[in-house]
Amino acid sequence: MTASLVGKYVWAVGVIAWFVIRYPYARKARRTATVRSHGWSRERILLAVAGLGLFVIPVLWLASGWPAALNYDLNYAAVTVGAALYGLSLWLFRRSHKDLGRQWSASLEIRESHQIVRAGVYRLIRHPMYASFWLWALAQAFLLPNAMAALSGLVAIAILFFTRIDFEERMLTEAFGDDYRAYMRETKRIIPGIY
Ligand code: SAH
Repeated sequence: MTASLVGKYVWAVGVIAWFVIRYPYARKARRTATVRSHGWSRERILLAVAGLGLFVIPVLWLASGWPAALNYDLNYAAVTVGAALYGLSLWLFRRSHKDLGRQWSASLEIRESHQIVRAGVYRLIRHPMYASFWLWALAQAFLLPNAMAALSGLVAIAILFFTRIDFEERMLTEAFGDDYRAYMRETKRIIPGIY
C-alpha cells in the first residue's frame, strides 16, 4: 500500500472517530436550554465554512479525483506526523467535550445555568476545542495528497477561529464579568504560555 493511500485511510478513520466522539455530546446539548444566542447568521456561515474545508472539499476530491492536477505523492514520514497530530487532536477534542459538558454548543450560546469551566484542559488554555480543530486541519494537510484538500481545512479553521474568537470572548466577558477577565489573564488562547 502506498503512503498516499494510507494517508487517505487515516484521514477517513479520523473523521469517523470525530463524529463518534461528538454525537453523544451534541445529543445531550439539545436537552439543555439556551438563554442567549449570539450572531445567529454569522455563526451559521462560519459552521458551513468549517464543514466545507474539513469535510466536504476533501470528500469531493476523494470521490471525484478532481482536481487531479494538484495531486502529489506522500511519504511515510508525512503520514506518521499527520497520524500523530490527528491522535492528539482527537484526544483534545474528547477531553474538551468532557470538561465543557453542558456548556458546549456548536455556535455561540449562553446556556441555562451556564458556568465558566476552568478545569481539566481548560486550565491549560481557554480554547482547547479550537486548538483541536487547528491540530485536525494540520493533520489533514499532512495526510491528504492533494493541495486543495490538504489546505482547505487550514483555510476554513483560520476563518472560523479568527472571526469567532473575539465575539466569543466578548460574550463570555459580558456574561461572567471579572471571573472571565481573571481567567483570561491566567491563560492563553490555544498555545499554552504563547498565544
Ligand atoms: N472556545 C471553547 C469552547 C467551544 S464551544 C473551546 O475552544 O474549547 C462554544 C461554546 O462554549 C460557546 O458558546 C461558549 O458559551 C462556551 N464556552 C467557551 N469557553 C467557555 C468556558 N471557559 N466555560 C464555559 N463555557 C465556555
